[in-house]
Amino acid sequence: MSRIAYVNGQYALHGEASVHIEDRGYQFADGVYEVINIDGGRFVDEEAHLDRLDRSLDELRIAWPMSRRAMKLVMRQVVHRNMIKDGLIYIQITRGVAPRDHGFPHGIPPSIVMTAKTFKSLPAEQPDDVGVAAITHPDIRWSRPDIKSVALLPNILCKQKAREAGAYEALLVDSAGYVTEGSSTNVWIVTKNNEVVTRAANENAILNGITRQAFIKLMAADGLSFVERKFTIAEALEAKECFITASSTRIKSVVSIDGKPVGNGHPGETVARLRRLYWTAAEAGGVLPKVPTNIREKR
Ligand code: PMP
Repeated sequence: MSRIAYVNGQYALHGEASVHIEDRGYQFADGVYEVINIDGGRFVDEEAHLDRLDRSLDELRIAWPMSRRAMKLVMRQVVHRNMIKDGLIYIQITRGVAPRDHGFPHGIPPSIVMTAKTFKSLPAEQPDDVGVAAITHPDIRWSRPDIKSVALLPNILCKQKAREAGAYEALLVDSAGYVTEGSSTNVWIVTKNNEVVTRAANENAILNGITRQAFIKLMAADGLSFVERKFTIAEALEAKECFITASSTRIKSVVSIDGKPVGNGHPGETVARLRRLYWTAAEAGGVLPKVPTNIREKR
């Protein structure tokens, strides 16, 4: 079956779908995106993703290309036309097409593209889980990584460094020596006192992952002790466990950093427990509020 993409009001064959050469996303990375997990045909934490999309658009002063209601209808069409049960939908909105000029163009509609693909998450029970390796890398991104912008060049360079080192993720470290997040994930540790720690999302230093927010909620409901604070790579190496989260991969144990083992060098119990909790939640469409929490777009 051919894959179908949605591009500016039309459904097109994935291989033929295209945008204009002067789309500002293409020329300036002047746009934002979201990736939402689809579990059993349902979007996981859909409203939270659309809230974050709204925030990213607002921060960059890009208008919604359509109403939130229409967006949700198109998302469902894209999933339906691609016959996706378990997978990912990618939504990208750019400032639109205009003659190349750094300043904002006037009176042009934003461009929107949606694609979807089948992506089966590993089962919740993973007895043979061996975790992943990570490297460290200076956080070389701009100072607004809280905006989910398509400008991902530093993230790409860091991820590639990780791949070339045979690792899965690059843990980004700020100029003060603290971990911000991964190149495409949020980073957490479990201390020897069984406290789960991740960096706070209040300083614009990280993307406030929707999966991150979901895990925080799940941990609270499960009685796990959790704190938002900065931590260093030395602390991560001293920790019992280290893990990363994102909508696509959900949760993965990081068992080594720059070739040194984390804890006993094997995935730990906390990740196994969190994985079970998250998989159950995802099947039910997520755990975050099911209604928009900020409605800038009121149409
Ligand atoms: N941080 C960065 C830099 C990311 O790219 C991502 C995933 N796109 C995340 C964190 C995780 O975000 P989410 O849980 O919303 O997928």
